[in-house]
Amino acid sequence: MTQHRPIKTVGELVEAGLVADVAGLEAVAAKYAIGITPAVAELIDREDPDDPIARQFVPRVDELVTAPEERADPIGDLAHSPVTGVVHRYPDRVLLKAVHVCPVYCRFCFRREMVGPAGLGTLTGPELDAAIGYIADHHDIWEVILTGGDPLVLSPRRLREIMTRLAGIDHVKIVRFHTRVPVVEPERVDDEMVAALKASGKTTYLAVHANHPREFTGAARAALARLADGGIVLISQSVLLKGVNDDVETLASLMRTFVENRVKPYYLHHPDLAPGTGHFRVSIEEGQRLVTALRGRISGLAQPTYVLDIPGGHGKADIGAASIAGGDGCFTVRDWQGGEHRYPPSGGGD
Ligand code: SF4
Repeated sequence: MTQHRPIKTVGELVEAGLVADVAGLEAVAAKYAIGITPAVAELIDREDPDDPIARQFVPRVDELVTAPEERADPIGDLAHSPVTGVVHRYPDRVLLKAVHVCPVYCRFCFRREMVGPAGLGTLTGPELDAAIGYIADHHDIWEVILTGGDPLVLSPRRLREIMTRLAGIDHVKIVRFHTRVPVVEPERVDDEMVAALKASGKTTYLAVHANHPREFTGAARAALARLADGGIVLISQSVLLKGVNDDVETLASLMRTFVENRVKPYYLHHPDLAPGTGHFRVSIEEGQRLVTALRGRISGLAQPTYVLDIPGGHGKADIGAASIAGGDGCFTVRDWQGGEHRYPPSGGGD
């Protein structure tokens, strides 16, 4: 069935043939927004009960189970928010969250308590003035990261307005967007959008969020090509998710697909402790095993950094398997097959 409009309700999920058993789903919908674009609905394999695309976007009753360690603000945005819409966690960069709406609502979202129609909304004019004023007043801010929500739901005209205001702040050198739009609503990425993204005149990066190689449809690939051809540097972000990409074949294919589309793999996130997302979490040991296996399998160009956002707002830590131990010029280095080697090697080899 071809879906023409976004799916936003349990009734629309049923109509689209994406759920049969609705028990408990209205309770899920009352807590966490539902959003599936036509492009994503088209991708879902309705014959496969374990479809990795469906798992990311179709709500489940498991979301009603909140584990004791889960929290509403898992990465501590609110603890580092000096003015509405700005998160200032590290000295040289800020998040600018102009909007808390997304074209899709990922079931594992780390900001699920903040996004959606009942979320924190869109910055008002005075709030945006205060956020831009904060950035202008803090000369250490070298990079502004537009996230949300998904900043690419804003119209090119709105984006251009924000970019024009950043253009006037000399100490900001880099503008970065975090978005799912190129894969979930690729038709939004037209020439006008590409021009708006670059309107600050700063070096512009765009982090593309995708978690499974099947998300790279022909339309998504074309959108990424428009961005890359437009001079925007593309990097990736993915979340390691049980039942979606927690096997080395899928991860290898995902990372290679990014590279083939001129997107440099950047972060593979360990899933955050967002409420009702326990069914997505793999153990850190399993994640380390997977990223170590990737080392031996795919090009260095395609390697992501495996990171954990430390709960409470303490920032990111690289949690890829430690492959070197020792000190005083005598180290043991572990290769991707688990073999251990001395560094520097002793006389006749290692
Ligand atoms: S696009 Fe990002 S912010 Fe929006 S629901 Fe998905 S993970 Fe959350």
